[in-house]
Amino acid sequence: MKVLVINAGSSSLKYQLYDMKDESVLAKGLVERIGMDSSIVTHKPAGLAEVSEVSEILEHTTAVRKVLSLLTDKEHGVIGSVDEIEAVGHRVVHGGEYFGESALVDGDVKTKIRQLFDLAPLHNPASMMGIKAAESNMPHVPQVVVFDTAFHQSMPENAYLYAIPRVLYKKHKVRRYGAHGTSHEFVSKAAAEFLDRPIEELKIISCHIGNGASLTAVQEGRSIDTSMGMTPLEGLMMGTRSGDLDPAIVPYVMNKEELTVNEVNSMLNKHSGLLAISGISSDMREITEGMQKGDANSKLAFEMYEYRLRKYIGSYAAVMNGVDVIVFTAGVGENSVVLRKKVCENLTYLGVELDEELNEIRSGEPRRISTANSKVQVLVVPTNEELVIARDTNRIVQGLKS
Ligand code: AMP
Repeated sequence: MKVLVINAGSSSLKYQLYDMKDESVLAKGLVERIGMDSSIVTHKPAGLAEVSEVSEILEHTTAVRKVLSLLTDKEHGVIGSVDEIEAVGHRVVHGGEYFGESALVDGDVKTKIRQLFDLAPLHNPASMMGIKAAESNMPHVPQVVVFDTAFHQSMPENAYLYAIPRVLYKKHKVRRYGAHGTSHEFVSKAAAEFLDRPIEELKIISCHIGNGASLTAVQEGRSIDTSMGMTPLEGLMMGTRSGDLDPAIVPYVMNKEELTVNEVNSMLNKHSGLLAISGISSDMREITEGMQKGDANSKLAFEMYEYRLRKYIGSYAAVMNGVDVIVFTAGVGENSVVLRKKVCENLTYLGVELDEELNEIRSGEPRRISTANSKVQVLVVPTNEELVIARDTNRIVQGLKS
């Protein structure tokens, strides 16, 4: 079965076409600047040259039409006809309490995604545009939605509730939902497979550290706590997000600086984190470079980032009464040798022993970076959220046939 995976943002649309026979990617690409003057379409067919075009794409339906025409193009295409696409999988950020797993799109599912617009005002409306665009271009093809929050629906009440008046949960569903669920699920399963151990026997701390960053405590294969909260702002220090802070800072700063709700939101989400402390960049590569050149602000930014990450690892070891496996994934987790080294150097009390040579090796495969004797296995597992979406879509749509 060929599955088209769509990840729609408000002005962008990423896609990957999978052949589920061998889970190979036939083509992938990105439509950027949808609704703006000159949209950019980048299409990478497997084994063929990449194409990039500027064209006018005013909304998502046209973007999907463009993608389908590239996928079937005589020169740059990888399939003979759109009919070869048997299912479409969509990434949706917020599934609220409705969705503990992926779902086949129908009227009820769409209503629920719409009801969650309030909780994810930047993301869910964009996903909805992606779904509508795919439906209007491929009306007879089943669509599946895969939620970033779904994996975390297994969290117990004591982990997902905030200690604020309960009426806010009852009336407005204020609670922890988490994010990066598809990634945490993928890397924790891949870690268990790599170690050839049943996931049910393992206590895993999954560290998804990219531009956004979150940690998850995975026990018996289920998320029991995660660092992102009702929104992706809570938890670790990130590229441009503050992560945890005293909530009283918000009204205090709003008052002192005469900021509006939107301004303070933007400050905490877009102008904080590594960017704010280093004053240079939100990109860990530049921070590391700055630190190595002796820049004091970059050094401080790195130290704060590492310190907070380590604090969360410690707290999740406490939550699970131990840890068997720590997994690093995403841009920083997969690539930053120096961050992993600093974190692991200070986790010896848990029984972590880093193998410095293994830590230096780069490969696109799951690998161990702890020593053979380390009590806690430390792994690097490249994440693949699109593959999870393609697999779930394939499973659900195959189920319709049986
Ligand atoms: P992601 O959100 O998973 O795509 O991760 C993006 C982030 O990964 C970038 O902002 C970089 O900070 C980080 N990154 C990528 N390559 C490296 C590297 N070699 N060393 C450190 N950080 C990296």
